[in-house]
Amino acid sequence: MDVSDILTGLNAAQRDAVAAENCNMLVLAGAGSGKTRVLVHRIAWLIRAEGFSPGSILAVTFTNKAAREMRSRIEEMLHIRGHGLWMGTFHGLAHRLLKAHWREAGLPQDFQILDADDQLRLVKRVCRELELDEGRWPPKQAMWYINAQKDEGLRARHVEAPAGDFFARTMLQVYFAYEAACERGGLVDFAELLLRAHELWLQHPEILEHYQGRFRQILVDEFQDTNTIQYAWLRVLAGERIPVVAVGDDDQSIYGWRGAKIENIQRFTDDFRGVHTVRLEQNYRSTKTILQAANGVIANNFGRLGKELWTAGDQGEPITLYAGFNEQDEARFIVEQIERWSEEGERLSESAILYRSNAQSRVLEEALIRAGLPYRIYGGQRFYERLEIRNALAYLRLLQSRGDDAAVERVINTPPRGIGGKTMDKVRDTAREREITLWQAVRAVLEEKLLPARALSALEGFTVLIDELDSGTDDLPLEELVEHVLDGSGLIDYHRQEKGEKGQARVENLEELVSAARQFDADAADESSPLQQFLDNAALDAGDAQADAHEDCVQLMTLHSAKGLEFPLVFLAGMEENLFPHRMSVEEPGRLEEERRLCYVGITRAMQKLYITYAESRRLHGSESFNTPSRFIREIPVDLLQEVRLNNTLSRPVSSLERAAVPDTGLGLGQRVFHQMFGEGTVLNFEGRGGSARVEVNFDTEGSKWLVLQYANLQLL
Ligand code: ATP
Ligand code: MG
Repeated sequence: MDVSDILTGLNAAQRDAVAAENCNMLVLAGAGSGKTRVLVHRIAWLIRAEGFSPGSILAVTFTNKAAREMRSRIEEMLHIRGHGLWMGTFHGLAHRLLKAHWREAGLPQDFQILDADDQLRLVKRVCRELELDEGRWPPKQAMWYINAQKDEGLRARHVEAPAGDFFARTMLQVYFAYEAACERGGLVDFAELLLRAHELWLQHPEILEHYQGRFRQILVDEFQDTNTIQYAWLRVLAGERIPVVAVGDDDQSIYGWRGAKIENIQRFTDDFRGVHTVRLEQNYRSTKTILQAANGVIANNFGRLGKELWTAGDQGEPITLYAGFNEQDEARFIVEQIERWSEEGERLSESAILYRSNAQSRVLEEALIRAGLPYRIYGGQRFYERLEIRNALAYLRLLQSRGDDAAVERVINTPPRGIGGKTMDKVRDTAREREITLWQAVRAVLEEKLLPARALSALEGFTVLIDELDSGTDDLPLEELVEHVLDGSGLIDYHRQEKGEKGQARVENLEELVSAARQFDADAADESSPLQQFLDNAALDAGDAQADAHEDCVQLMTLHSAKGLEFPLVFLAGMEENLFPHRMSVEEPGRLEEERRLCYVGITRAMQKLYITYAESRRLHGSESFNTPSRFIREIPVDLLQEVRLNNTLSRPVSSLERAAVPDTGLGLGQRVFHQMFGEGTVLNFEGRGGSARVEVNFDTEGSKWLVLQYANLQLL
């Protein structure tokens, strides 16, 4: 692509931003206005027109996926290999720095990344050691506390806990103990990556100077969701020397609950010199209808920075609103629409179902499976987060570093080898008393024979296994190493013996891990071993390694993970009060506004057609609830909505039999019935036919029950 081509396909405001002189710049603009596109084109421009080397550009994206896409887009535009570019998430970049400067960062060379699950495990252990009652002091809460401090740049020694504040004092005590445990094992959690990278700048001016000399421009996408420590890291790095281009939308700040600071946008213009602000006002993504709906909703928030957004696109179809009788019916409706979309020759991968929380996906998944539609979930149970994969990775981590306590905890008795709770207590106590790692504690227990012979032999079995797995493997290619560990650890056999689908799926996943290792492209220039690189990648990217981008399937994800993406066909499912806005958010104005921004993000993902659905009754987390439609629906101008009620009956009680929805019976969904034992109730759901037909009835006093129709003797009311 020529220099001039980089600017074609951009509007005037975008061109200005792409080709602007080197200065601090804020691109503040609404959804779909081409902010990300500007960022990509600017990088191409700097390289091609300004002669920047790829290695002098640092770009921060919100997800690893976004970074990969950006890199390949630039490679495609410029026909270069983009390896020199520093492009990734804040976490990924911080990790890269810490790998390069582990000594200065005060870390062992083989430090391991602790993901959220391992972190919780470790916090749990620390709480147990402090003899805190789990009921009163939930480890999860302690973990949030620790992460919140780190996000603010505070180490335990920086935190002040007033003498009278028992809560703060206890949390702080956990924080101290947790820090010590991480230190001993060379473990680094996500928040720690950022904190250490920031400290690296402050404590090693020579390193900071090196990077300040290296980078000539920093670009940050989704700037509205940076937190305090990320902002601080960026500010120190940029100093007075490196111009920063920040791109964002205050209306799309949705990670406040994780410490993101929308105020960073304002701070940026105050803290950085001569910030040139660019506003993009034309939306290229959505129809007029979709954009008007989004604007209608977000207009209810206060204190916005204020942006205009218009589109030259068509008015487009109205937004379809569907009230499902229950969550099953809602899912059925969505799947029918997708089937229709696909029958019209459109691609499944152009459709996305978005929801507020992960737990909502199950019913949708089941409906998709029943219809035989392939689908893919972003986030949620990701490949690298699955139990069996995490176990396998823990073995691999132990080969890399025996000091990895989280890995020891995870697999010392998986597959079961007779190491019970008491044995582990002894090991943990020993580790705590002597301030050593669990592995060292196991060794000590063995040498000093601190346990009965059976326990000792079980422990010994474990150490021998790990040492054996590790011996003679130095020259094995990564893929064979993984295979060797899966076999040798007994994990594959263990899951093979598990009955049913689940075991089968686990074995398949483990096999998938071998292919992931095969496909893994280790960086030869990197000093750490391919295994270490593979493990780091898995921990950081706990994402789409198994992603088969070529498979055409429906996309499922939470609203949070949909940020930055776009799809021709979008469903916003579960638009009910208590679910969305989330129950926890309604009382606090600040949190409600964040929910509303999330709704704005959701609506603006849609390019051509948007469906909004809700269920009049919903079973979630095992209990039944009856929620009113989300207030956000009411905030959409009513003339943009078109309400559909399938069969015109599903959504209200049915009184006449010809509208029956349960096949071969006289029953309709919503039908009032009487049961000898349970009394009166309403038919909610059904499955099966003939002799095996079952109905779910929500009884007024007894709650909901599934009954075999044949024997239930229901009387219609
Ligand atoms: P979000 O706020 O959701 O992250 P964004 O502002 O980053 O959105 P992009 O994703 O960059 O917006 O662009 C939205 C869509 O509009 C993309 O499909 C992009 O290719 C297209 N687009 C952007 N600018 C133009 C343009 N000048 N001409 C044609 N299409 C454009
Ligand atoms: Mg974007």
